[in-house]
Amino acid sequence: MSRIVYVNGAYLPEEDAKISVFDRGFIFGDGIYEVSAVIGGKLVDCEAHLARLARSCGEIRLALPWSTAELVAIHEELIRRNALDEGGVYLEVTRGASDRDFPFPKDVTPTLVMFTQARNFVNAPAVKTGIKVVSTPDLRWARRDIKSVNLLAPVLAKQFAAENGAQEAWMIEDGVVTEGASSTAWIVKGKTLISRPLSNKVLPGITRKAVLAYIAETGFAFEEREFTLAEALDAEEAFITSATSLVMPVTTIDGHSIHNGAPGPTALRLREIYIDFATERPEGPSFPPCEPAQRPVARASVGRGSRRPDRPLAVHQDDRAPGFRSGTPPVCGP
Ligand code: PMP
Repeated sequence: MSRIVYVNGAYLPEEDAKISVFDRGFIFGDGIYEVSAVIGGKLVDCEAHLARLARSCGEIRLALPWSTAELVAIHEELIRRNALDEGGVYLEVTRGASDRDFPFPKDVTPTLVMFTQARNFVNAPAVKTGIKVVSTPDLRWARRDIKSVNLLAPVLAKQFAAENGAQEAWMIEDGVVTEGASSTAWIVKGKTLISRPLSNKVLPGITRKAVLAYIAETGFAFEEREFTLAEALDAEEAFITSATSLVMPVTTIDGHSIHNGAPGPTALRLREIYIDFATERPEGPSFPPCEPAQRPVARASVGRGSRRPDRPLAVHQDDRAPGFRSGTPPVCGP
């Protein structure tokens, strides 16, 4: 049975869905995307993903004509029409279709495409073995904090990983690990989790933020700093986070075993807590109230039934790339 996808206001069988060959997403990669996980038929952290979407769109001066509530409703309708229990919802917005010319066209309507992908990631077999990572130079542009659809460098990095029997590539720049091709990179030393600071060099991971929201309660400390590949090879544990890998242990890097080649207890514990967190099981952790200055979207929107359609999109301070002033503020909503 074919999927039902969403294209510019219509829900269509995938084989009937079409966009223009002049779409700027296709021609220039002039677009932004997001992926929200679905567990048990419910969206996980969708509003935080939509806040990052708005922030990315603001940075490329693409005004979104849809409200958060409208976008969440389309996600939910796609989940319903495709009877999706577990997987992801992919969203892409582009500047629209116009005759090929580099500057922004006038009076163009953004293109919005969304589709579901069924995946079993909660009980993924890889959790038992951990994943293999290979290192590769980071070939990406200077604004990786923007979730642009230009993914050629990550495509090449992932292909390099696949050809070397690995599931993820950690990209290296100036002697330090920037991030995974599609995930945030972490290492563990003692009771301390280490991941690099947010900046224009990395995507501000929504799963990273969710993990940071609960680690204080778990007894782990967080050291936000860069780390080298050599330090990662020497770490007690390593893991990645992303919307659809959740928290995934890394057991080899460039063929070197991490934690004797077995998933580490820290990564497994964080994964368990994150899944509780995402699905709001009754026995899941409780969370301290947010700092007033940081109150907005991410923490409050994690998990089931967290939709608050009337809330304006806000950008969490720590989602912003230090050193970058937003051009146009994120626009979302009529
Ligand atoms: N870094 C990169 C480059 C990514 O593509 C992703 C996946 N979107 C992440 C980090 C993790 O982000 P998130 O936790 O929001 O999925």
